[in-house]
Formats: sequence, C-alpha cells, structure tokens
Amino acid sequence: MIAYQRLVNNDNIEVLLFPLDVMYITQGENGSISHSLAMDFVGYSSNGQISTYPFYAPCTLVCVDKNYNNGQAYIVYESKNKVLLANGDIDYITIVVMHDNSPIYNIGDVVLQGELLGHTGTAGYVTGDHTHFNVAKGKYQGWQSLGNGFSELVNSIHLYDAFYINDTVIYNDNGYAWKKYDGGVLPPTPPPVYKKEAKKFKWVVYTRLYKSRKIAYFNNKLKRK
Ligand SMILES: [Zn+2]
Repeated sequence: MIAYQRLVNNDNIEVLLFPLDVMYITQGENGSISHSLAMDFVGYSSNGQISTYPFYAPCTLVCVDKNYNNGQAYIVYESKNKVLLANGDIDYITIVVMHDNSPIYNIGDVVLQGELLGHTGTAGYVTGDHTHFNVAKGKYQGWQSLGNGFSELVNSIHLYDAFYINDTVIYNDNGYAWKKYDGGVLPPTPPPVYKKEAKKFKWVVYTRLYKSRKIAYFNNKLKRK
C-alpha cells in the first residue's frame, strides 16, 4: 500500500493491505531468530536499504497493547471492524509491530486505514533497522510461547494469507504466494482524523469571528457615511 491509501470491497469492508510501499523480507517464516509465522521487513529503494522507513495502517486499527519495558519494543493493534483478508476470510485481525524507536500511538488510539502507523527501527532485540509483523485472525487473544524464549500471537496466520500487496513495489517476497485484490472501491468520504478535528474546528470559529468582525467594521463605516 501507499500513504493514505484506503480500499474497501463492495460491502464497504476494508481490504487488508500490506503496510509498506516496498517489500523486502530479511527474515521469513521459521526464521532463526524468534520467528514462526512473523516476518521482518526493511525499507528499501533501488539504491539499497533505507532506515526509519514509514509504514501505514493496513486497515483502521485500535491500539490495544504496548510494551517498551525489559528489552521489549512492541505495539499490538486490533482491526476496528471485520476486514477482508488475502485468503478471502472476513474477520477481525490483530497485528503486532516491533522495533519502532519513536512509537506514535498509545493504547486506545485509533489509526485510520492508510495513516502513518510507524517506522522501521532498532528498538528492542534486533540485529539492524527493520520492522517485524505478526498477524493473528480475530481479536487480541494474547501470546503463545514458541519454546525458545520467544512468543507470537495466539491464532497467528501466514502474512500472505492476511495482506493484499496492491501498490507495493516488490524487491524480495521470499517466493511466498502474495496476492493482489482485484476490484474494490475507494471509500466515499474518508472520515476526518479525530486528533486534527479540534484544530480545524477552532480555525472555522476563528474565520467566522474574523468575518463577522469585518462585516461589523464595514457596517460601522457605512453608518458613519
Ligand atoms: Zn522479527
């Protein structure tokens, strides 16, 4: 997906999109470091790797857990509504993102599909700048041990069964069967961003005040004439 991209099917259900505008997998499934169904991705261009690379909300998300203590660096989000997964299922999803050095969101925050979700980074247990995604089907059910001191989400699924890769530039897809969603529509009116709403409102009030003062000023001028 690309920044601010939004996509829903004909029933207005959000289509779950791959969070980066590029795909370069540095560790796939069953990777040697703490991986079962999770994967690691880096920012990339034709000139090579890019650190602190942005990624976006694959669907509208609610932040439900965050842990930056004891060497951990993860945030857990749940989809706000049921979404369309790449395997055709319609369900809630849970996603963990790791290693962002400057996490933007806290528990309770809502992030609209397409909005900036975070950046690749080096927080927590890493060997270099990247992001780590782990997706589970359904709402957040907690973690299960992988038996090597590491954990992944309960009900974890293959990422290629979760994300459609529409508009992502592929550099290294590890040969997995990633799919594109064929069809869909842009949502009619993107809902406003809650955090920016307050500012917008003040500005409208200010503009109205200014206009009414201007009118009063001209009325007074007219009266004097
Ligand atoms: Zn990882």
